[in-house]
Amino acid sequence: MSDLETHQAKLAPFLAQQKDGILNLIGGQSVAAASGRTFATTSPVDGSHIADVARSDAADIDAAAQAAKAAFPAWAAMDGKARKKLLHKVADAIVERAEEIALCDCWDTGQAYRFMSKAALRGAENFRFFADMAPAARDGQSLPTASHMNVTSRQPIGPVGVITPWNTPFMLSTWKIAPALAAGCTVVHKPAEFSPHTARLLAEICRDAGLPDGVLNLVNGMGEDAGRALTEHPDIKAIAFVGESKTGSAIMKQGADTLKRVHFELGGKNPVVVFDDADLDRALDAAIFMIYSLNGERCTSSSRLLVQKSIAAEFQKKLVARVNQIKVGNPLDPQTEIGPLIHQIHLDKVVSYFDVARNEGATIAAGGKAMEGDGCYVHPTLFTDARPDMAIAQEEIFGPVLTVIPFEDEDEALSIANDVAYGLAGYLWTNDITRALRFSNALEAGMIWVNSENVRHLPTPFGGVKASGIGRDGGHWSFDFYMEQKNIAIALGNHKITQLGMG
Ligand code: NAD
Repeated sequence: MSDLETHQAKLAPFLAQQKDGILNLIGGQSVAAASGRTFATTSPVDGSHIADVARSDAADIDAAAQAAKAAFPAWAAMDGKARKKLLHKVADAIVERAEEIALCDCWDTGQAYRFMSKAALRGAENFRFFADMAPAARDGQSLPTASHMNVTSRQPIGPVGVITPWNTPFMLSTWKIAPALAAGCTVVHKPAEFSPHTARLLAEICRDAGLPDGVLNLVNGMGEDAGRALTEHPDIKAIAFVGESKTGSAIMKQGADTLKRVHFELGGKNPVVVFDDADLDRALDAAIFMIYSLNGERCTSSSRLLVQKSIAAEFQKKLVARVNQIKVGNPLDPQTEIGPLIHQIHLDKVVSYFDVARNEGATIAAGGKAMEGDGCYVHPTLFTDARPDMAIAQEEIFGPVLTVIPFEDEDEALSIANDVAYGLAGYLWTNDITRALRFSNALEAGMIWVNSENVRHLPTPFGGVKASGIGRDGGHWSFDFYMEQKNIAIALGNHKITQLGMG
């Protein structure tokens, strides 16, 4: 049996478990949508039907919000050490079911097993990291004055909504849900309609690990009805959202009437900037990895390669050779580097940029077409001779598509790098440390890696500027979002009332 066949055989029983449909989990109960409506989720590998999924609306969101509200006081009051223990049990169960999670995400999203297997384990790490922070989540400061002792503490904000996208869905969900639970919030999760499978697994894992009913609720459905209702619900105190920038702005409007606190991780058009003094072999490896891994359906992908003119021709030649060697295939095959894109709709969007590139006068140096046959497959693509103002250099394509833009010097590189709506991440390749610091300082991005691909350390802040987001994840930045600061001022003596500072 080949590795692919082994994975297919392992996946079959997991798929069979979902044949009766993917239900919501509200207050610990598996329930269909109140309306009885469903939608189908299919695999981008071959278009086959995976399951019918609850197509929820405002009534289901209301039931979930009520369950989250009812569960909140006890969960928030639970000792942090007890929450830590429960969340570690969740992490243990994720590790035990990591292969199932990885295989299901591959089949549901088209992302390759080599990455999904790591992503599933990363989901467990996210739970462990925030579990360990839970006992100190409420810690504050004492800020004494001559007249008063001020004591601060953090308190969980209340029931929160988590809305997630279809790329790396399991791992991204844990990234939001783990800190929310560790902080003492209860959660209503609305996963992306294109990738509902592993959200159900996460909800089951949390229930089976002993999370009290109503602490994590799952409501499936479309963005415009279930998602919208979640953002408008008065009992939901905050929305953590990962997705497209234009959806972020819709959510901000939808949440305005209930003064929703929002945390947005949005799109990117991230530059990788290669100077002629860099270690070019490593830069080449990283440039390839950061756009052609995870199908290029990755917010931190380096979708613009800015390369210094003195080395551009040679660098591009090597790039073309490497892109043409990338192995596209069934995502269950451990050898596969790029699987099918999430859905026909998304494939059509990515492919539409090939005509845009031709019409704008760029060169398609590799790829540039969808693959023949079943499935949402596309050839990994490289655009060269691009100008910074072209749509292929400005817009998030969100596929295995790299746009190369040459630059003369550091000033020009910086101006091209910053001249986009987005500002999530940036990657610099240079051996000049002064330039690296100067350039990083001026680059409009929330996260910058120098001589490295995206290597994430969980205590560091993750997030973007400009159209790429609002707020940061990671370490205490996550708790800042899911918690409120409270200050208690205690008079130390009988000071004369109104004679002290105002406001
Ligand atoms: P999307 O915005 O279309 O959908 C994301 C989620 O929002 C889905 O669950 C969807 O149902 C829901 N939604 C849609 N409309 C809604 C509405 N009006 N109200 C409430 N919810 C609504 O995004 P996508 O296509 O699923 O994901 C890809 C996008 O996510 C890309 O732009 C990518 O860059 C971004 N992303 C960003 C990060 C980051 O950390 N910055 C990480 C991953 C993905």
